[in-house]
This record gives sequence, structure tokens and C-alpha cells, in this order.
Amino acid sequence: MDRPIPDHRGPEMPSLVAEIRAGLRSVFKSEQGEPVVFPGSGTGAWEASLVNTLSPGDRVLSFENGHFARLYAEAARQLGMQVDDVKLRWGDAVTQSDVEANLKPEHRAVLIVHNETSTGVTTDVGAVRRGIDRTGRDPLLLVDVVSSLGSMDFRMAEWRVDVALTGTQKGLMLPPGGAILCVGPRALEAAEKNRAPRYFYDWRPVIRDMQQGFFPYTPATLLLFGLREALRMLLEEGLDDVFARHRRLAQATREAVRAWGMSLLASDPARASNSLTAVVVEEIDSTAVVKVAAERLNLALGVGLGQLRGRVFRIGHLGSLNELEVLATLAGTELALLYSGQPIELGVGVAAAQRFFAGIKADAKLAAAETRGATPERVG
Ligand code: PLP
Repeated sequence: MDRPIPDHRGPEMPSLVAEIRAGLRSVFKSEQGEPVVFPGSGTGAWEASLVNTLSPGDRVLSFENGHFARLYAEAARQLGMQVDDVKLRWGDAVTQSDVEANLKPEHRAVLIVHNETSTGVTTDVGAVRRGIDRTGRDPLLLVDVVSSLGSMDFRMAEWRVDVALTGTQKGLMLPPGGAILCVGPRALEAAEKNRAPRYFYDWRPVIRDMQQGFFPYTPATLLLFGLREALRMLLEEGLDDVFARHRRLAQATREAVRAWGMSLLASDPARASNSLTAVVVEEIDSTAVVKVAAERLNLALGVGLGQLRGRVFRIGHLGSLNELEVLATLAGTELALLYSGQPIELGVGVAAAQRFFAGIKADAKLAAAETRGATPERVG
């Protein structure tokens, strides 16, 4: 990205844009989807997903299981859609039965946040698709993959997702500034038929120009060079290996939380996110932990958002990250907990994560193995 700013109508653009389109199709797992890149952020991508496919008055179904799901629904409401927002516990995933029980013939779209960044919970989008199919209805499926794409498996074509959307600043490892969507054939058709007004976020001219290697406005050129490199990095490592790395880093983080005697916000451990972990704080205000981590340790933890303010803090483990960085983060988190008055034994979380990385199941087993002189048992 650190280069002279190119002419966005110049000869460098077509090969750059072609590689980005192909790379995004691979990462979204959609051969037919049309990638769209706007200057913007995840919020802009929400707006683009809504104004292209829906009109004011259209009824949509959403599930409030966290701060971002609530805001995606709010965006639809502000744009004039009638939103049926099913309230779930913040910490739950959306399930197949939630969809089956609430989807009505008049719903034109279902809004889902794949990975709820405020709660650290991942919804099984395949199960959402099965839920929709079981009803025999056919709404558009719009999925926010802001904190999952590039860190966790997402299969746009297989799950028949009509629009998937993200920003540049999470699993794509870039600075903020880009809103990225992948648009499936049914959503393209809906946008063609839609008479509702839209201008900047109209994806039709963007798709047309991107197919030729250009944009209908001045794009965030330097970010595009970064995006090309980020996509290369993901594909060089291999998506399956990227996802396995994040599973492993997430599991080590969860082992540390357990060793601290603290709990995850996720109601079902099987749905705990592999890109971030939300930790419930009982004794003290979680905002104090985040503040002390920033001020004394230069460590950025996430605060509790919305109704979770003061009750949870969040450890991010997405994007370009390795085991050593996770161990350092956990060590810093232990200090931040101690400094802010949470009763904690220093080192226990780090040791639990180290044991997990080393493939050693538990203290007891290690001790037994050492006395026998045997190799400690390995875990997957
Ligand atoms: N959706 C999710 C799941 C998010 O985590 C975020 C931001 O963190 C957004 C949407 C909003 O994105 P942005 O802040 O880039 O507008």
C-alpha cells in the first residue's frame, strides 16, 4: 500500500481489480457472486445490502442476538423497511428452529450476522439455510460476515447466501476504509427490479465498471493494493489452514478463560467464536479492565457493547496472528485483570494456553506421564 498513488483510470487498474474480484470469489466461496468494493465500512455495506435488494415497506426478519444484529435491523428500519426483530439472549446463536418458527410468507429477506462481534458467538448459516428451506419459502438471505470472513469458514454458494458483506479491517487484515460485498444472482435480479432510490450505494454501476477493471468514482486506490495482498496471503496459506489456525488460537484463549475461573458469554460452547472471545466479568466493571490494559500495557481489548457494557470484555484473535501473540495477549490480560482488582492467579491462563499449544491435555496427565517417563498425550 505504501506506494505513489496511481491514476485510478490508468493502466494499473484492470489487472489489480481482476485479481481482487477472483480472490474475493475464492474467499467468499462463490464462483457466481459479483464482488463489490465501496469506500466505506461495515455499516456502509449493510446499507448497500438493503437499499439494493429491498424497498421501503418491505418486511424483513432479523434476530437480535447482539449489538451488531440489533444495528443491522436498525439500519433496515431507518431505511423504511418493516422489521420483525426476534429477541434472543445476547450470547445465543440463531438456530434452525428460530428461523422455522418465525419466517412468514411476507418476509422478503432474512438478516443474519454470521459472527456476532459483541458476544463472540457464531451462527451456523448452513442451519439457517436449512431452516428457510424447511418452510418452503424463499426470502433473500443477507449475511453480515464482518468478523468472520477470512478467519472462519463461510460458504456463500453452498449455503445459498444472496448477499454477504464485510469491511476491510477485520479478517482481511487491512486498515478501515472499505465496504466489501459479494452479490449472488437472485440479489442481482432483485436489485434490477427494485425501484427504490439509491445512488452512491447502487451496486449496478460498480459491478459493471469492476468487470472492466475500474470504478464509477474515485476508489480507495491504496486500500485496493492492500486488499490484493491480503487475499494473496489468505490463499497462499490456504483457507483451510487459516481457519484451522484460528480454531487453534481461539481454543487456547478459551482454555485460558477457563483456567482464570471466568466464563464465556457464549451460551453454547460449540458456538463460541473462533475470531474473538467475550469474557464475562462478575466482580468488577469490565470497562476498567479494558482501560487499564490500554493505559498500562498498550494492549487493546474490546469493551462490552450496548447492554453488555461493563459486563464483558473481548479478546480479539482474528486476522494475522500467531501463537506467541496470543500468549502475549493472555499474559497482558492477566495483568490487566490483576491491576483492576479481579482476583486472579497470574500465569494460569497463559500456562493453560501453552499446554494446549504443546498438545498436553492436563496437569494431572502431564504429571502422570512424567513419572512414567512417557510422552505426554497429544490433543488434536
Ligand atoms: N457488523 C459486525 C459484525 C461488526 O463487528 C461491525 C463492526 O465491528 C459492523 C458490522 C460495523 O462495521 P463498521 O464499524 O466497519 O461500520
